[in-house]
Amino acid sequence: MKSDPAKRIYDLQQFGEFGDVNPSITDSSTYTFLEGETMEETFLGHMEGCFLYSRHWNPSNKYLADALAALEKTEAAWITASGMAAITCALLQVCHSGDHIITSVTTYGGTYAFLKNWLPRYNIEVSFVDITKHEMVKNAIQPNTKVIYTETVTNPLLQVSDIPELAKIAHDAGVKLMVDNTFSPMIFTPAELGADFVVYSMTKFINGKNDCVAGAICGSKEFINQLSNVNDGTAMLLGPVLDPLRSSSILKNLHTLHLRMKQHSKNALFLAEEFEALGLKIKYPGLKSHPQYELHTRMMNPEFGYGGILSIDFGTEKNANQIMFKLQRANVGYLAVSLGYFRTLFSCSGHSTSSEVPVEVQHEMGLSDGLVRISVGLDNDIEEVFERIKTCL
Ligand SMILES: *Cc1c(COP(=O)(O)O)cnc(C)c1O
Repeated sequence: MKSDPAKRIYDLQQFGEFGDVNPSITDSSTYTFLEGETMEETFLGHMEGCFLYSRHWNPSNKYLADALAALEKTEAAWITASGMAAITCALLQVCHSGDHIITSVTTYGGTYAFLKNWLPRYNIEVSFVDITKHEMVKNAIQPNTKVIYTETVTNPLLQVSDIPELAKIAHDAGVKLMVDNTFSPMIFTPAELGADFVVYSMTKFINGKNDCVAGAICGSKEFINQLSNVNDGTAMLLGPVLDPLRSSSILKNLHTLHLRMKQHSKNALFLAEEFEALGLKIKYPGLKSHPQYELHTRMMNPEFGYGGILSIDFGTEKNANQIMFKLQRANVGYLAVSLGYFRTLFSCSGHSTSSEVPVEVQHEMGLSDGLVRISVGLDNDIEEVFERIKTCL
């Protein structure tokens, strides 16, 4: 299936109010109405193109939302102030007390903690499964199941979810499929593959600058209207609005995303092949040795590659820490959490971004103590960088 997300963004033609090539930034929290009647209609959600109050909608976030919807080939999208806000608002909109969620056991640590520690307090039941085992997913479905939740490429183990198959399992049971595509924008178009909702941390690749935190929810117009409903919409009532200044800067960065993804993927594949040749315990979905290499190849929009994230198991935390210290000293990149940045970032997942996951569960899912996740940067001369990396191993 060939999809061209870059072309869909290119085709948007969004102008500002004075013909400015970058849409004007709205510097207002509230908006005037000529007549009281129009205000009421807007409140009731009956007016398109009118803005009421910035927590509800504002023009800057609308421009970015339209671009995200184009990227994901969904009818609509909603912008949030963080990836966690996107995930929590989307899940709480779909699931209420008494409902049930099936999730991949390997997800971003914050998502895991929300599902494991927070939702059960509100009587929402969660089953954790190995998302690559489809029988296990099927068997976990209950009459009150509302959502199957996964990441296209899971954090930090880089398992690839079979979106078409999971969508089929979900839809056969009247359940929705929600996918976090943070690791692989452009590379995958989950909605086209069958996902009902796509959520993002835009903090990572989409923005690519590590200068702010932001998120997005993509889905049907109906779902976005539910999220923004003044009476019971989570995005309206929990209030995770992104500041228009930030959304306008993310919109500009979105227009270079296709180039950045290609370069991240090119550099990561080069390093992955070299690391594999050195005999390191490496995981990267672009290597033929990766268990879901075929699946990734089948689902991807081919020109964007296999993504910028790889992980290496250095055995022990002590070993991992030593190597990361040397890598930073050799200016290969920075010892920091987060990913999708123009510089290479590395961190020991079990002791940072997945530390919310209990150690027993980490071991059960195959997350070793010495696993280092590397988000490969946009380096121009990756061969020279590899020479420097070798001196640190
Ligand atoms: C970072 C991350 C999140 C959380 O996003 P924030 O913007 O930090 O709130 C969610 N999912 C994945 C896969 C992530 O990497």
